[in-house]
Amino acid sequence: MEAITKNVGQVWWNAANAPWLLQCDPFKVSPHVYYVGNTWVGAYLIDTGDGLALIDTLIFEDAYQLFENIYKLGFNPKDIKNILLTHCHIDHVGGVNPIVSVSGAKVWLSREDEIFADHPFNKKEGIFKVTEFRKPDCYFSDDEPLVLGNIVIRTKLCPGHTPGTTSFFIEDHDENGRKLVVGLHGGVGVNTMSDKYFEENDLDPILRKQFIEGCEAMKSIHVDISIPSHPAHGDLMNRISSDPMDYTPLIDEKEWAHFLDVRAQFAKDLEEK
Ligand SMILES: [Zn+2]
Repeated sequence: MEAITKNVGQVWWNAANAPWLLQCDPFKVSPHVYYVGNTWVGAYLIDTGDGLALIDTLIFEDAYQLFENIYKLGFNPKDIKNILLTHCHIDHVGGVNPIVSVSGAKVWLSREDEIFADHPFNKKEGIFKVTEFRKPDCYFSDDEPLVLGNIVIRTKLCPGHTPGTTSFFIEDHDENGRKLVVGLHGGVGVNTMSDKYFEENDLDPILRKQFIEGCEAMKSIHVDISIPSHPAHGDLMNRISSDPMDYTPLIDEKEWAHFLDVRAQFAKDLEEK
């Protein structure tokens, strides 16, 4: 456990002081979805056929990596119309302001995490710059799928990692018309679900129970391609092809339920301590 903690510390230090060490080239995860994050935090670009959508934005200091990866794919950040946020933690929302300033994109978040944004936890200055919180333009609703160009995205509120963590189910199609559902759990880090963490940050311990229940409930959703909000969760970098445009090694309809089982077990282990 100690080695993991040290490792996480090193990643954070790199993110703020030597971000180029975390940089990675973009790659496809499905016919119209691309990984544009770094080796620490995930971010995904969706070519909807009617502009771009971006899921998550890294920390403020590393946002330049998003711009670079988007350009490398042949797209332009100006064409981002919607930013969908998995949850309101600094490593996912820090780049919102720079992306909005070039694109004018609408920002989407859950109502629960808009409230959470006001929590003192989110205002604490730490290793990374705390940017001014931008009030969302739109809120997710599990009952109303987002229709963005040719892409339909269903959302599922899954409290746990934060009160308003949101998962996405992206319906994509390949060139032969085959439907591929891409599943992204919005936050599986159990670092925020220990009794100590709840106490120190004045958070409701019910979040851990809700996380476990959410994982169980979402297992029945059919997902062809499972992608994480941090690449280390679900071992993303070891599942991809050496050809960055070949997403096919990621197609595995059993991976989603397996991933949720593994992550729920981490939370259950905390319950038993
Ligand atoms: Zn988080």
